Amino acid sequence: MTAMTGQRTFDSVNPATGATVGTHPIHDARAVRAAVEDANEAARWWERLGYAGRRARLLDYKAVLVREIRSLARLVREETGKPEGDAVLEIVLTVAHLDWAARNARRVLGPRRVFPGVLGLNLTATLEYQPLGTVGVIGPWNYPVFTPMGSIAYALAAGNAVVFKPSELTPGVGVRLAELFAEAVPGRPVFQTVTGLGETGAALAADPGIDKIAFTGSTATARRVMAACAANLTPIVAECGGKDALIVDHDADVAAAADAALWGAMSNAGQTCVGVERVYVVDAVYDAFMRELTERARAVKAGEHYGPITLPEQVKIIRRHVDEAVRSGRAVVGGSGSVREPYVEPVIVEDVPEDSPAVREETFGPVITVRRVADAEEALTLANASAYGLGGAVFSRDARRAMELARRMRGGMTAINSVISFVGVPALPFGGVGDSGFGRIHGADGLREFARPKAITRQRFPLPGMNLTSFRRREADLDRLVRLVTFLHGRRR
Ligand code: NDP
Repeated sequence: MTAMTGQRTFDSVNPATGATVGTHPIHDARAVRAAVEDANEAARWWERLGYAGRRARLLDYKAVLVREIRSLARLVREETGKPEGDAVLEIVLTVAHLDWAARNARRVLGPRRVFPGVLGLNLTATLEYQPLGTVGVIGPWNYPVFTPMGSIAYALAAGNAVVFKPSELTPGVGVRLAELFAEAVPGRPVFQTVTGLGETGAALAADPGIDKIAFTGSTATARRVMAACAANLTPIVAECGGKDALIVDHDADVAAAADAALWGAMSNAGQTCVGVERVYVVDAVYDAFMRELTERARAVKAGEHYGPITLPEQVKIIRRHVDEAVRSGRAVVGGSGSVREPYVEPVIVEDVPEDSPAVREETFGPVITVRRVADAEEALTLANASAYGLGGAVFSRDARRAMELARRMRGGMTAINSVISFVGVPALPFGGVGDSGFGRIHGADGLREFARPKAITRQRFPLPGMNLTSFRRREADLDRLVRLVTFLHGRRR
């Protein structure tokens, strides 16, 4: 709290050192209201710019982000503790998405003619996707650039203004993202960041000037955000947690699968919504896979290959999952002693019962459970028996079989012979099912998520002898209609 202004503040803290990184205001509901009002006005200007005007400015924003890649990465490292190289990677991916959204918005959303149907031959039918207005974005801390920008870039490209509430753990990154936007688009508050704790996010969700909320975070918070949105019937896209599985089939390249499983599970200290948390390995290759996995895992060190657990509270959850897993299963790498706050060394446990918290709940730490299965069908059944359904991976040399397994995996995205690769393809949509949420960011679906379809029909001439939508309709009009419909649709296959 600063006594001078009465403005309450909070600090962001480096989780690795405990040092204060920055101090930020706690924006209350009134401050959020003011930001949203400004955004509502800026949204009108942004919409009037049209696709070409927005594309040019978003590509400028992209160039500013690229120029600042190192300084932004340092800020990400300070607020999350992750290695700077990982932060650079995250920003590069963000740039690719921003570029795609800017370049493809007109193609995906712009006006297009659609066939009006035989009964509507006298009409031209136009479909276009109009901006919603102002989108409220609520983001998490684990990828504080990439994750919120997955909503922000697409919402802006679709013609909306954005008010962004970053996680209280990474407010500096959130503020910086908006400052850099203002360099490319000065004087118009098209993209603003409000800072604060959970209540600031709640005020944003409940604000009547918000036309949609893009929420990324835990399933429990998503429920609260939806409840706040209900008051104004504000729609929401919810990107929540996951419990992703990786399946290793009998014909897989086990070395590649082990390498990918390890990176998918341990990178970013396991704090990845589409991180690998469960591995199901077919009996024929189980021992070979475990040899490769454990050998590689022993070379991975917390504090060197990945950073600390960013959220101190999460350490308790990780500890509970690990303790329970090593009690009921068999620790292969690490164990209860691996949890040394704020770091957690890699933990690999096999034969953990499927009802154990480490298998059922999101761990969000560098921990994997591995289970031997008879075949890929059993792996798929176990992989799909989760309340979550976000991403997943399949390793197999048989491309057709792998595609079939991928299709049947419950969730929005599956990678074959790699992990998490779908996030790097901007044209592909990203989102989950079940407790992992609903709606999509990224790709054409991600652009449409932040737009409303507008249908327009224009009558070019009256249909001769078919005056159907008038009180002057005659029996002869109906007769002709029935004859036409019988001709068009009256035959069985
Ligand atoms: P939280 O659910 O704790 O927080 C998410 C955001 O919501 C934060 O900005 C938080 O603010 C805010 N918030 C908290 N309470 C409220 C409220 N009542 N009303 C409105 N907003 C609120 O998630 P984490 O930040 O801990 O992120 C980790 C979670 O995010 C994991 O479950 C992970 O799987 C998921 N995730 C999902 C992704 C996806 O795309 N599907 C991607 C990345 C992460 P504050 O921090 O200030 O409390």
